[in-house]
Amino acid sequence: MNSGNEIDQRRARRLNLRQDQKGPVIYWMSRDQRFQNNWALLFACQKARLLRQPLEVVFTLAPSFLGAPLRHYDFMFKGLIEVERSLRDSGIPLIVLHGDPDSTLQAYAEERQTGLVVSDFSPLTPVRQWKRNLAASLSCALYEVDAHNIVPCWLAAPKQEYAARTIRPRLDALRKSFLTPFPQPEAPCQPGTLSCPPVDWNALLEKLEVDRSVKPVSGIAPGEAAAELRLRKFLDSVIDRYANERNDPNAGAVSGLSPYLHFGQLSAQHAAYEASRCEASQANREAFIEELFIRRELAENFCFYNERYDVFDTFPDWAKATLMEHAADQRDYLYTPEEFEAAKTNDPLWNAAQQSLVESGVMHGYMRMYWAKKILEWSQSPAAAFDTALWLNDRYALDGRDPNGYAGVAWSIGGLHDRPWSERPVYGKIRYMNASGCARKFDVNRYITSVTNAPQPTLF
Ligand SMILES: Cc1cc2nc3c(=O)[nH]c(=O)nc-3n(C[C@H](O)[C@H](O)[C@H](O)COP(=O)(O)OP(=O)(O)OC[C@H]3O[C@@H](n4cnc5c(N)ncnc54)[C@H](O)[C@@H]3O)c2cc1C
Repeated sequence: MNSGNEIDQRRARRLNLRQDQKGPVIYWMSRDQRFQNNWALLFACQKARLLRQPLEVVFTLAPSFLGAPLRHYDFMFKGLIEVERSLRDSGIPLIVLHGDPDSTLQAYAEERQTGLVVSDFSPLTPVRQWKRNLAASLSCALYEVDAHNIVPCWLAAPKQEYAARTIRPRLDALRKSFLTPFPQPEAPCQPGTLSCPPVDWNALLEKLEVDRSVKPVSGIAPGEAAAELRLRKFLDSVIDRYANERNDPNAGAVSGLSPYLHFGQLSAQHAAYEASRCEASQANREAFIEELFIRRELAENFCFYNERYDVFDTFPDWAKATLMEHAADQRDYLYTPEEFEAAKTNDPLWNAAQQSLVESGVMHGYMRMYWAKKILEWSQSPAAAFDTALWLNDRYALDGRDPNGYAGVAWSIGGLHDRPWSERPVYGKIRYMNASGCARKFDVNRYITSVTNAPQPTLF
């Protein structure tokens, strides 16, 4: 692993006031499940080298993380098998702990007489609560390294931003100093003192008490190597169509990288850096970086500064007011969450999008907007619509339970990061979408047929 001299210290912050001590360095790998291009791992390795201590990577398996079903654990474990192999090749053990991360990690750290703990970054409320508890109970230092964002979330902005137009100048100003290449892995750190057998991931998966009715998917291969392959393929042969065709679900013009980014199997910084120097036109490169950098980090900013990102209350005031004014409007159709789940609506286009989500774990980005807006139109109340859309997204989408999901659903249903539009029934001033608008943009029948014929498509 790299000696870490190149690490910009602004990527890390202390979560308590304890000192680094003598004892193994622990990297609590949580959101950034990769060996390559991982600032948290590089930072932990640098600490281990400086203090001449061994490095251990710990992964905590919480009883049920935000209700994730088998599909997500299957994808995650297959990625972790690869991470474990790479770590071992560098002489770093991976230990899996079971239980609530804060208490199990604290107990483990005490037992190992740990010198310091490094964590990666997530803006999601349960993870932040675990970290607060851990920071208070550890007798050594706890650090947090934002290995998920290009600009560390706490540096990007000091408060919740209104829209892409308000965060963009801030991120653009920091882009040059943060959108850098990663250091190359070098020699291993101090040899470990811990001998532990390889993790039996298959046995772990079998024992997990999770909802097994949401099955693993076959259309997208998990892991760092597969993520890198997909990135390369996208940059070599697809990105050239990104600016003009990304809103056409039939065009195969998007990257399909979101599951990898969500599980941290791919670094957004690495993807953006490679995109910035690929051979595509500047318009295509910048259109992709706008989504991967500005829009994604705007979503992180939303969850970081707003712990109630998953309740109706989170919508901007103008949006709550207009939605409440129209809450009693007559709906043309009303569906229960279960009817939505079973894709039993009057609209074949909506049903196809839902079928794609359920069967492949993926829905094209343009269809996601239409899908969520129709849930608003056909639900009993805006709050019920928000709950249903988040429930379905988190349950079936491989990239669900992500700040992008909370922001994307709140944008579609609750006007987050958007502005008021002309008023109409049910939506009030929330931006409207309908099937004829979709038909003007792309071949709707082709989309429906493609989902029905190949429910587990590859994206390009
Ligand atoms: C209702 C709704 C729900 C959504 N749920 C999720 C979710 O659960 N997880 C998720 O990662 N994204 C979500 N998005 C955002 C976006 O639709 C997906 O990130 C994108 O479709 C993923 O496909 P891709 O990787 O091919 O994207 P590409 O178009 O290739 O973009 C590359 C990357 O940029 C980021 N990105 C793209 N569009 C957005 C956006 N609008 N906001 C923030 N980041 C973006 C993603 O990380 C994406 O992987 C949601 C959007 C909506 C409207």
